[in-house]
Amino acid sequence: MAALTPYQSWGRYPRALPAGVRSLRFRDQPLPRVAGSVLPFGNGRSYGDSCLNNGGTLLATRGLDRFLAFDPATGLIRCEAGVLLSEILSLTVGGGWFLPVTPGTRYVTVGGAIANDVHGKNHHLAGTFGHQVIRLELLRSSGERLRCGPTERADLFAATIGGLGLTGLITWAEFRLKRIANPYVQVERTRFDHLDGFFELALGADREHEYTVAWIDCLASGRHLGRGIYLAGNHAAPTCEDAPRPPGRAPSIPFDPPLSLIATPTLRAFNEIFYRKQPRRPTNGVEHFAPFFYPLDGIGQWNRIYGPKGFLQYQSVVPMSAGRDATRAMLACIAGSGQGSFLSVLKVFGDRPAAGLLSFPRPGVTLALDFPYKGRATLRLFETLDTLVAQAGGAIYPAKDAHMSPRLFAAGYPRVDEFRRHLDPAFSSSFWRRVTGAVA
Ligand SMILES: Cc1cc2nc3c(=O)[nH]c(=O)nc-3n(C[C@H](O)[C@H](O)[C@H](O)COP(=O)(O)OP(=O)(O)OC[C@H]3O[C@@H](n4cnc5c(N)ncnc54)[C@H](O)[C@@H]3O)c2cc1C
Repeated sequence: MAALTPYQSWGRYPRALPAGVRSLRFRDQPLPRVAGSVLPFGNGRSYGDSCLNNGGTLLATRGLDRFLAFDPATGLIRCEAGVLLSEILSLTVGGGWFLPVTPGTRYVTVGGAIANDVHGKNHHLAGTFGHQVIRLELLRSSGERLRCGPTERADLFAATIGGLGLTGLITWAEFRLKRIANPYVQVERTRFDHLDGFFELALGADREHEYTVAWIDCLASGRHLGRGIYLAGNHAAPTCEDAPRPPGRAPSIPFDPPLSLIATPTLRAFNEIFYRKQPRRPTNGVEHFAPFFYPLDGIGQWNRIYGPKGFLQYQSVVPMSAGRDATRAMLACIAGSGQGSFLSVLKVFGDRPAAGLLSFPRPGVTLALDFPYKGRATLRLFETLDTLVAQAGGAIYPAKDAHMSPRLFAAGYPRVDEFRRHLDPAFSSSFWRRVTGAVA
């Protein structure tokens, strides 16, 4: 097994050893000349191997961290691709501007958010991060710098949104922020006893709330299968009472425990307590945006609790027509295996056509769970889940993946041949080679 480097993915599985890492500092500098393939590396918040390039070179982009333009009247922002979403929020929330789409962690770069075409709790209304991008610059290994947007080199743009860093290096991007009155969110939490309860709530709440998502107790079975808590939120009104204080500094997991701290009995107890803590009746209150959008950012380096073997996420999407049955079958399979995570997440995606050729979000139900890596037992469970996803005509999210087969990738991403025409010949990744059989 390769040693851990600072350039690992969030799940710390699989391990990969790059032949070299080149830190980029200036957007005008040419790409470094190296033997073998290159891959941009943002902040390593992808779980599996889509941000890894075993045996090749990583282009570390965090040095591209400058803001280039911001119009406080319109919310139009242009910044380098290594800027973190957290840095944008620090700059703009006080002035009444928020990200139009954000994933469940703010510690991702703008380049990484575009290359995985990330989604948030408002997918049903706003689509993905890629839908928000007005323009970007792509540096190709030929030395060309190409400006792309929805109406400018639209084909290359569609390949680059969700393009997994394989069409070239994004040096900067421009997009529009959304107006907010303050940093608070009005949140309604509703407990539901079984999976059908989720679908009833999702159909109603998605019409009235900008942000929706559910937490599921993935170990509950029988008549409680799919029980959980539904969160629905809107940005708070200009004057809101009882606004909480912003959260303080996040505590951090200080060292790598020698073993995974996730064991089935503690997980079962945690899920039970978390579920029961929520009163039966819906609650409504004002929360600061940070714990609402980024609950896991509250504990630094939380990925360490899974121990040295690391962990995998399984995020699938299946069409609505098969959504109820496929989700029920997947949850039954996970509960039966006794494996699973704190915070399993279920959401209904909206109908907006994808922004990118390889974008993951599509109309349907998405389920996401973390699993400590337990070798064959985990991979066997994933194979069963894969069969259910394939039968339902669904797909797995590359940003979270470390196991999907070439066959499942091809079935889930039917536009991959169109995408190949835009690949930069010098760019490759461990993920791409695994799911396509390409050589480095
Ligand atoms: C706690 C947590 C919660 C999450 N929640 C969500 C969620 O709700 N929704 C969601 O969609 N995702 C979610 N994610 C996944 C995360 O948003 C994505 O993996 C994101 O793309 C990571 O960005 P990064 O900057 O860390 O990029 P990396 O993980 O380092 O790289 C991601 C991809 O971007 C490419 N890339 C990076 N920079 C550039 C560039 N400048 N030019 C071209 N390509 C580039 C890389 O080659 C790679 O293919 C979550 C992750 C975590 C850890």
